[in-house]
Amino acid sequence: MSFSQLNIITPILKAIEQEGYTIPSPIQQQAIPILLEGKDVLASAQTGTGKTAAFAIPIIQALYHQEQRLLSKRLIQALILAPTRELAEQIKESFRNYSREMSIKTEVIYGGVSQKNQEVALKKGLDVLIATPGRLLDLINQGLLTLSHVKYLVLDEADRMLDMGFIHDVKKIVKLVPDERQTMLFSATLPKEIMKLANELLKHPVRIEVTPPEAMVDKIKQLLYYVSKKDKTHLLIDLLVNPKLESVLVFTRTKHGANKFVKELLSYGVKADAIHGNKSQNRRQQALTDFKGKRLRVLVATDIAARGIDIDELSHVINYDLPETPETYVHRMGRTGRAGLSGEAYSFCSQDEKSLLVAIIKHINMDIPVVEHKLFQEKTKSNQVEKQNVKSVESKTVVDKKNSNTKTKAFRYGFEVKKNDGNKKNHQRGNTPSSARLSTNQYRIKSNSKSK
Ligand code: AMP
Repeated sequence: MSFSQLNIITPILKAIEQEGYTIPSPIQQQAIPILLEGKDVLASAQTGTGKTAAFAIPIIQALYHQEQRLLSKRLIQALILAPTRELAEQIKESFRNYSREMSIKTEVIYGGVSQKNQEVALKKGLDVLIATPGRLLDLINQGLLTLSHVKYLVLDEADRMLDMGFIHDVKKIVKLVPDERQTMLFSATLPKEIMKLANELLKHPVRIEVTPPEAMVDKIKQLLYYVSKKDKTHLLIDLLVNPKLESVLVFTRTKHGANKFVKELLSYGVKADAIHGNKSQNRRQQALTDFKGKRLRVLVATDIAARGIDIDELSHVINYDLPETPETYVHRMGRTGRAGLSGEAYSFCSQDEKSLLVAIIKHINMDIPVVEHKLFQEKTKSNQVEKQNVKSVESKTVVDKKNSNTKTKAFRYGFEVKKNDGNKKNHQRGNTPSSARLSTNQYRIKSNSKSK
């Protein structure tokens, strides 16, 4: 099926062609025709399925045909509620991209930043508003906008808005939107509370469910490393010697773990940052922008912070800590291998995580090939050798006391990292000394079989 078979108008077809989309994703194939008919939709779909275009395209198409659009003062006709600033920004970008051939104005408002620019944008008038619930209510209460002309309402990632305690605000907002409207609710999961909300807000909705993400797991190359907790960081540093790991999203279980780990990476000259709930919106957004712009090579995230984040061209996902639930493993992997790009997912499993691994393997119904790491094998085989190595390192590093810690670690992994800019550059680009490249060849794939 092609996009033109979905009765999409030419200016949008042109825009999505520029985006490089050739075939509509399953959710787009199902939702677009229904939404173009003006029906309400209840869809279970998560980030990575193409859900944003599934609701944005029909809304843009409807607005294109609206006379309101031609009035000198634009009125908010479409409202999209999203749980986080990051997601709101992404939706805004999508609307702007898909409507680039027309004069539709899309703006975004969210909390955690000054409201000044948002006020200016609202005063100028707009057609599509993307908003997080708290800031939106705030601005409405200040009399800075009205929702009385909204005809299209989208609740995106509704389950996450529930998790984050926004449902009360969402209900207040919906009361301010006219009853005569088309409503769309998108949610990764549909717990009881969301079904209740859907019953209250949607009129005879068409229920859409996209193929579960498990279906795409076998398209991603997965590898497994058995490694002790204390050696996980060292293993990752060693893997990063390989320039193939261009853009790496690392999942850790705790915020504290994420911070500690970023510090360690920085000490090796690897450009890294973390996103998690304890960081301000500004810092999270900055880290994300830097990562997308390839100014950061590694982004460390907790599951909550990473949900809803859409990053194209992500080469690797690393499960530094295995997730507590097997479904989360699948969601994490869905971050890579998007839009036909080849993705790889590496998982680190320590002794105490074996039960989590068993659950994952059962869930995805396939074996994950195990990679043996020669350095660690040697270490466990002979503590003696390890001690001797450390001793010889100590004798080499006495000259530079300030950086001795870094040098010691570096030596153990076969390459030297100095804390100066030139060397940092080398490491980031993967232009490592040949001794370092050698170490990546020391992995041996033990099993490559898939048992379905
Ligand atoms: P979403 O699930 O809306 O967050 O979209 C995930 C990613 O898929 C985004 O980067 C979109 O640009 C991309 N995308 C959406 N629809 C398509 C399509 N039909 N073909 C290729 N990529 C798409």
